[in-house]
Amino acid sequence: MHWFKGRPVHRGLAALVLAVAALAACDRAPEVHREQAFVLGTLVEITAAGASKEELGEAAGAAFREMRAIHNALTPTAEGNLLADFNGAAPGEWTALEGPLTGLIPRALAVQRASGNTFSPHLGRLVGLWGFREPPFPEEPPAEAAVEDLMDGGAGGEALELRRSDGLEARLTRPGAGLDLGGIAKGYAVDRAATKLKEHGVDNALINAGGDLRALGTRGNRPWRIGIRDPRDRERVLAVVALRDGEAIVTSGDYERSFTHDGRRYHHLLDPATGRPARRARQATVMGPRATETDAWSTALFVAGARGLERLGARQPGLVIDAEGRAHANAAMEERLDWRAEGMAAP
Ligand code: ADP
Ligand code: MG
Repeated sequence: MHWFKGRPVHRGLAALVLAVAALAACDRAPEVHREQAFVLGTLVEITAAGASKEELGEAAGAAFREMRAIHNALTPTAEGNLLADFNGAAPGEWTALEGPLTGLIPRALAVQRASGNTFSPHLGRLVGLWGFREPPFPEEPPAEAAVEDLMDGGAGGEALELRRSDGLEARLTRPGAGLDLGGIAKGYAVDRAATKLKEHGVDNALINAGGDLRALGTRGNRPWRIGIRDPRDRERVLAVVALRDGEAIVTSGDYERSFTHDGRRYHHLLDPATGRPARRARQATVMGPRATETDAWSTALFVAGARGLERLGARQPGLVIDAEGRAHANAAMEERLDWRAEGMAAP
């Protein structure tokens, strides 16, 4: 467990140290290029080391196309797409799974079970009621009775079932439930982007989709390094982690999509037990071998708060900044965090 204090940030010094470090590594500095695109409702950045600008341009183009297709299939929309078609079925009616749903629903269900239902892939109707789908966000919470109606309709329980017949089929069992893969789809898109980069011969890269990151290979002779930021001072880096080849790190926070009403913050991460914004954490960070599960677990850990570190398991690094601003890291995370980097500029 680690407690951090509001120490002053020595930016000038940190910048100097960085500059010296950069000089020292200069002779073996790799060629580094970056591509950006607005996908999945966020700015996605792909940084590659050791590939030419043209090589990265082509690979990143393929990765962004793949991410956009995933977004189009899974974003909640009134016009038809895979998600809307699935949600259009009556409660209890089986739907054959296609496209990204085939892989994602079983994986989402696995995290729902393992997390003790703090991650739930079927909060869609609640998320819609709270108005967090897209900006502008509302200025006040919905009527209590409307939340209770959906909770009475089974929104917060376990209401998604899977069966194998010819292929995979799934169904929602309660009227309050609506499939919403928002807590896992970005991680899945990052994993697919990683595969695309490799198919195009880019083996050393960092993909950052607004808090969902995955590293491939190294940045020249050093690993890709990631700063974990302070949830209440986004300019400040709390600690730095070096990522291994293929490793993902995902952070969920209450500052992303939120509004304040009567001095209280309301945000887009809902506790299935209450149907309301989770109150146990300000931020949760998880690391793992794939961005898909890591994304789902970061949402689960955010909802569970510090006590959720037990469910995460001993091998998977997890860090929670609780509602009082205290940091709780499990042993696997503590081993990986470089707290001395506090105050350093984020990569
Ligand atoms: P972000 O998209 O801000 O990075 P997350 O990956 O944690 O954050 O996903 C947030 C989205 O997941 C919400 O917008 C909503 O669609 C959905 N969601 C909200 N609460 C939960 C929950 N308890 N379990 C699973 N998904 C959730
Ligand atoms: Mg998530």
